[in-house]
Amino acid sequence: MKIHEYQGKEILRQFGVPVPRGIPAFTVQEAVEAAQKLGGPVWVVKAQIHAGGRGKGGGVKVAKSIEDVQRLAGDILGMQLITHQTGPEGQKVRRLYIEDGADIQKEYYVSVVTDRATQKVAFIASSEGGMDIEEVAHNTPEKIVKIFVDPIECVDTGLSREQALELAQGIGMPEDSQEQAIDLFQKLYQCYMKTDASLVEINPLNRDSKGNLIALDAKFNFDANALFRHPDIVAYRDLDEEDPAEVEASQFDLAYISLDGNIGCLVNGAGLAMSTMDTIKLFGAEPANFLDVGGGATPEKVTEAFKIMLKNDKVKAILVNIFGGIMKCDTIATGVITACRAVNLSVPLVVRMKGTNEELGKKMLAESGLPIISADTMAEAAQKVVAAVNAAA
Ligand code: ADP
Ligand code: MG
Repeated sequence: MKIHEYQGKEILRQFGVPVPRGIPAFTVQEAVEAAQKLGGPVWVVKAQIHAGGRGKGGGVKVAKSIEDVQRLAGDILGMQLITHQTGPEGQKVRRLYIEDGADIQKEYYVSVVTDRATQKVAFIASSEGGMDIEEVAHNTPEKIVKIFVDPIECVDTGLSREQALELAQGIGMPEDSQEQAIDLFQKLYQCYMKTDASLVEINPLNRDSKGNLIALDAKFNFDANALFRHPDIVAYRDLDEEDPAEVEASQFDLAYISLDGNIGCLVNGAGLAMSTMDTIKLFGAEPANFLDVGGGATPEKVTEAFKIMLKNDKVKAILVNIFGGIMKCDTIATGVITACRAVNLSVPLVVRMKGTNEELGKKMLAESGLPIISADTMAEAAQKVVAAVNAAA
């Protein structure tokens, strides 16, 4: 789960990581009041969307008067902000953050992420903050410093002083700021662990002309499996920032991810779903979604899954690929038939099912009177659905 920058900064503040003063605003009027409360003389008006690269996209602007704040808030609020992380359609700005303008001397980069390869917590830092870290990694990889922390070994101690210092020196932090850097990195580690984050990124971490460090941006991702123990973080969820189909699917306990292709996929089991998408690609087409209906799909759940897939008007055909293990093929057949009738299916549907009660399931589909194309192997199913979309186009 992702949250907004201003929410991330609230969390950082709780853990003692220095951040500028700021107030969120949902209207231009609120933005003006926030600026008055902060007092100036310099403010930054920041679009709040769940994507980075806002600055380059025109969503972060410096204001030197209340009138500036008012004008910029009016410009940014409601704009369709396009960044390299939003996709070409951009994301509508519904919230602003009005923040004290910082005295920027030097921008650093620091992030904490789960590193699956080493099974450790990785601290990644760079002297090249404020820009795309991917670009830095690509062009000047020597400017990126990484240290790995064993979360089990450090469960009581947290990030050690030695490792924090190594990081500070590794990014060339001037000596008079090193103590602050050590303290900040240690607090960041606590924050990352205690909130069950999978990513905390501060880009930029600013060093001002007096040598003080302050986080000017905050990006958090949280491990969804741990959210049950963080109701305060769940409360930060902003459904406006999430794909509506994915939100709806989660209400029915369906694992659904929107993709860019035109073949809707309904599969049981994440592994089978992945290989189904691979097979579609192998035969030259693209899946419109990942959808795992899980092991206990009822006809109602299958119907909801069809409805969600069909809301995407890019979908030109559907492939149902089911392995009947715990869930029997005749149950799935009932689900598919009910769903087709309920949604009045108007795109070609290819069904492949294998496993328990396969023959019965196939017979039910054949006798349903619905124009269902049946297939026996994965390859056959993929080829048939690709042929169907090509014929439709
Ligand atoms: P994004 O990463 O989405 O572009 P940031 O919050 O990093 O958004 O802001 C972009 C840039 O704007 C920063 O690199 C920094 O130079 C500047 N900036 C952000 N917040 C402030 C602030 N409070 N005071 C001064 N400059 C800021
Ligand atoms: Mg940033």
